[in-house]
Amino acid sequence: MSVSIAIVGTGPAGFYAADALLKQDADYRIDLIDRLPTPYGLIRFGVAPDHQTTKNVSNSFERTAARDEVCFLGNVEIGRDVSLDELRGLFDAVILAVGAGADRALGIPGEDKRGVIGSAAFVGWYNAHPDLRGLDPPLGTEAAVVIGHGNVAIDVARVLVKTPGEMADSDLPDYAGAAIRASAITDVYLVGRRGPIQAKFTNKELREMGRLENAVALADPAQLPADVGDLEDERERRIKPKILATLKEFAEHQPDEKPKRVRFQFFAQPVEVLGGESVEGVRFERTKLEDGRAVGAGEFYDIKCGLVIPAVGYRSDPVPGAPFDDKRGIVVNEDGRVGDGLYAVGWIKRGPTGVIATNRPDGVVVAKHVAADFPEGSKPGRETLMVLLQERGVRAVSFDDWKTIERAEIEAATPPAPRRKLATIDEMLAVLGQD
Ligand code: NAP
Repeated sequence: MSVSIAIVGTGPAGFYAADALLKQDADYRIDLIDRLPTPYGLIRFGVAPDHQTTKNVSNSFERTAARDEVCFLGNVEIGRDVSLDELRGLFDAVILAVGAGADRALGIPGEDKRGVIGSAAFVGWYNAHPDLRGLDPPLGTEAAVVIGHGNVAIDVARVLVKTPGEMADSDLPDYAGAAIRASAITDVYLVGRRGPIQAKFTNKELREMGRLENAVALADPAQLPADVGDLEDERERRIKPKILATLKEFAEHQPDEKPKRVRFQFFAQPVEVLGGESVEGVRFERTKLEDGRAVGAGEFYDIKCGLVIPAVGYRSDPVPGAPFDDKRGIVVNEDGRVGDGLYAVGWIKRGPTGVIATNRPDGVVVAKHVAADFPEGSKPGRETLMVLLQERGVRAVSFDDWKTIERAEIEAATPPAPRRKLATIDEMLAVLGQD
């Protein structure tokens, strides 16, 4: 009997796991399950709408989904439509690939004020994630503060200040485009708690900030060291001088060169979000580095703003029925093994770090585990799940259905935009002739 495998989550980690399983010399039937009618997870909802070439990896995922051994089941939520225990009863192996969709908290007073919106939520909003269609971020403010110096912080700042012309070949949804166009934001502060050498963004993303039509990137020369100093890591010795050189270019820019400004600030950690019910500013404490860590230096300053976007990393939500390490925000696992026939890959396994391809090795590891644990299958898998879903009135979305949704999005787009994303599940099901 073939081995039945359910992969929960169809972002890069889920698809790379399916790829790795298909490379085994084994008789597998793989179901890729997603709670949304759309596949590809962070490729669709995380990668910035103006970075379309990064999304091309979905072409190879599409070839995987088209394989005879593979079936996509969208609009099926584990924990709502079928429990994890039920799934484990139906499939020989279950692989969790649900990613990290929630925001890490800053843990400072005031962060629950209106106008503090975590980057996961904000990125989901401008990427037409159905959960975030109604977010309505307060953009009627002149200044926004983005906290964190990773690539997500850069994405957020760039999307906030790019012109409609610069976004024309993106798949930014109409509602987000209209809100950003109408926004009063002229200054975006990008504040990091450590220095220019410790910042986590990459030079390619940083350099793009220096080439924006309407916004000038600024850095304070007093915060930039003459050189990168001694770096142990060979990769860092290559990369960091380039980042420093880019920031030095920004330090020569003038604030009034363009109508908007993106201000890089270093060595400052947020200690309080200021205001009443809504955000009116952020109080920062200047920092110094001790053993590479930022520690408060006892000197404070405020930035007035009406929008704060902490971009300080994501965390996974617990998966009901799977052991969860709340501190690390991941499923408890040993090299991808969670329990009998239960495995994890990607950000739910190891936390929210790395680029898309970083998830590939997780798939290879888990495929080896599955091959070792299941030379033969004994559980019915797909057909029995489909019966159960039908009994429960769940409208599972097939890959053909998804292609119908995708076609509708492409046909509705105004070139050069690649697609006009449907932003609610109802709209997607309506395209399929369902309510
Ligand atoms: P990240 O790269 O880990 O950056 C998080 C930033 O938040 C760091 O600057 C970190 O500072 C800061 N931070 C964390 N906790 C903080 C706190 N309590 N107070 C103040 N600052 C805090 O995470 P990310 O930007 O969310 O990106 C996630 C992953 O996706 C990364 O691997 C990233 O490269 C990848 N990604 C890649 C692209 C791309 O390739 N274009 C685009 C988007 C995302 P410390 O360093 O001091 O901890």
